[in-house]
Amino acid sequence: MSIRSLFSGLHGHAKRRVKREVIRHHRRRGVVLFSDTTLRDGEQMPGATLDPDEKVRIAQALDELGVHSLDAGFPASSVADREAIRRMSPVVKRPVLTALCRTLPGDIDAAEEALQDRARHKRGVSLFCGTSPLHRRDKLGKDKSQVLRMITDAVCYATEKFEIVACSPEDASRTELDFLCEIYREVIDAGVTTIGFPDTVGVLTPDKVRDMLRQIQDNVPNIDKALLAVHFHNDLGCAVANTLEGIREGANVVQCTVNGIGERAGNTSLEEVAVAMSLYPELYGPLGKLDVSQLVPLCRLVSQLTGVPLPINKPIAGQTVFASEAGIHQDGLLKNPDTYLPFRPEHVGADGVRLILGRHSGRRAVEHRLHGMGLRIDDAHVNAVLDAIKSQPKDVLITDDHLRRIVSDATTGPSSETP
Ligand code: MN
Repeated sequence: MSIRSLFSGLHGHAKRRVKREVIRHHRRRGVVLFSDTTLRDGEQMPGATLDPDEKVRIAQALDELGVHSLDAGFPASSVADREAIRRMSPVVKRPVLTALCRTLPGDIDAAEEALQDRARHKRGVSLFCGTSPLHRRDKLGKDKSQVLRMITDAVCYATEKFEIVACSPEDASRTELDFLCEIYREVIDAGVTTIGFPDTVGVLTPDKVRDMLRQIQDNVPNIDKALLAVHFHNDLGCAVANTLEGIREGANVVQCTVNGIGERAGNTSLEEVAVAMSLYPELYGPLGKLDVSQLVPLCRLVSQLTGVPLPINKPIAGQTVFASEAGIHQDGLLKNPDTYLPFRPEHVGADGVRLILGRHSGRRAVEHRLHGMGLRIDDAHVNAVLDAIKSQPKDVLITDDHLRRIVSDATTGPSSETP
């Protein structure tokens, strides 16, 4: 029986029982669910703004990739976000679409309106409210009990309208653990399907993640009635490591962005977590429906549409990750690509290994390149070509045309100097 048919026609207690069954099902299977927030937290990166039609293109690619849910935007914040979510609704098939909301009824109403065309089991809200001392005092001007009341009231309001309700205490990593656990206990009792653990300003390291998640699980007795979602930022360069540690410590949902774009130093990079998981299923569980061979085209699409360039050495999709200029590596790669690769390019949908000719290159790579271009020259001339390559200025990239000129000069003497 499908989840859709289970939900239809149910009310009150029965609905909650079904919800708990769905949560148990996800927990039992041990498959980590990917929640992508490229279109929300990623788009918050300065300069990364996307038009609604660009968001729809990325959402469709994420659907193809196999993510479980899409944090589709913040309807109360802008007309463009509402428009993008409305346009995504009919074309994004498999993922749950969730809308970000403050713990305010007006935000939840705006989410309901933006998601009105969506089936109930394919839409949700993601509530957030600052809970750390800094956020309570300086942002909200509220004490603990006022904050807790605001959160539980909003959860109750949201569960009237949505089957899928996530709630994240914003700045959780800097919130007192006893208060954090109290919030989780209360919102789970109030009927959320997911509790979020956001490291909003990216201050955690893997050891801190382990300690905090263990304490939360020890002090929230009803934690099995909800899914646990982790959301990390990369301010210390630890977002991916923290996410993998989170999975080891029982996180059921990981929030990531493509290329790790996002506020400040960015979010957890989806492609890096997915590939790490693909290498070690015995540690992090199976990847479920996620198809890692679609990652590189997706990374390029997001870079192109957001205008945020991929650093050339960006893991998985950067220009140099399957390129090599060094002679010993090139020789090894030609004998067997696995000698100097962590995984094959085709595993992540990249084009292939590229051997770059430059000062560090050796004979084997030069011969290989010449052979590929249909040029045959004797050993002595290969040495002359190699010498010529090594004497090029340091920033010169040897294109095929350039190499043809070098070969011609080496075999017949420099043409420009011939009278
Ligand atoms: Mn964030």
